[in-house]
Amino acid sequence: MNQFEYTRPTKQKAALEQKAKSPATKFIAGGTNLIDLMKHGVENPQKLVDINRLPLHKIEQTKTGLRIGALVANSTVAEDKQVLEKFPLLSQALVSGASAQLRHMATVGGNIMQRTRCYYFYDTALPCNKREPGSGCGALEGINRIHAIFGFSDKCIAVHPSDMCVALAALDAKVLVTGPNGDRSISFLDFHRLPGDQPEKDTNLGPDELILAVDIPASPFTKNVHYLKVRERASYAFALVSVAAALDIENNTIRNARLAMGGVAHKPWRLLGAEKALIGKQVSEEVFQQAAAVAMQGAKAFEHNEYKLKLAPNSIVQALKNAAGMA
Ligand code: SF4
Repeated sequence: MNQFEYTRPTKQKAALEQKAKSPATKFIAGGTNLIDLMKHGVENPQKLVDINRLPLHKIEQTKTGLRIGALVANSTVAEDKQVLEKFPLLSQALVSGASAQLRHMATVGGNIMQRTRCYYFYDTALPCNKREPGSGCGALEGINRIHAIFGFSDKCIAVHPSDMCVALAALDAKVLVTGPNGDRSISFLDFHRLPGDQPEKDTNLGPDELILAVDIPASPFTKNVHYLKVRERASYAFALVSVAAALDIENNTIRNARLAMGGVAHKPWRLLGAEKALIGKQVSEEVFQQAAAVAMQGAKAFEHNEYKLKLAPNSIVQALKNAAGMA
């Protein structure tokens, strides 16, 4: 690991000023991904600005819903009474992610900013456009079992690894950020990027900006929800495919629906077409299968991940059945 400077400001302004001074400066909070990346030589910051002393540790009710500070631990969010009552989908997603030890360390902001687990990204001896733009994509013609089936480009086929972000995308959350030009709120669907020609950019967060909080609007999705995660082992592992499903059901009719997938694209993959296909319909497995078929339009597999073309729709149907209490 390279040598680096380390500071622990207590004021937001000081943290932003230190970050603005050099592009080789990184914010660090829980460090559960960044330290790994530094050990592998993927990230080599000259300076770490530890933001743990900033006042971003609260979960608070707002006029429109719930605000979760960027430094709240994943385990704290998952166990929070308000989250369990109002956003159980988020709690389920968090509990399915990582190990208990990691959830205690990892923060909400860090979870949003975590980077792909593509093997080629972590191996500095292999080509990877995300790590080293222009070097090529090792996964494209290599081992691509865990890779994307939606939204990829010829530069990168990686997937976003977070579970929490899939639930937040389904719940229409917003990311509150601050920077030299003040505060701004970014819709969760616009926060992460597709790889396009610049796979090195995971998000639309500015280089000098800091995540302050996540805002989740109040919603009727408090009962019929399910986060389904399919992974290679029951303990700590990233999703091959995951589905966040939320239904608002009255008299067996679906009044509203939210669906998002993880493990299938470079960003949490919201299934807006499938949601439309569900609204106004009676709850049934057939309707869920029709929605899954809509969700899979445009999916394309690579040599080793064709199984996802079956796994993904089956997971959507199962998640919806679980959410509706049919399973
Ligand atoms: Fe790198 Fe993306 Fe290709 Fe993986 S899929 S090797 S992260 S460019």
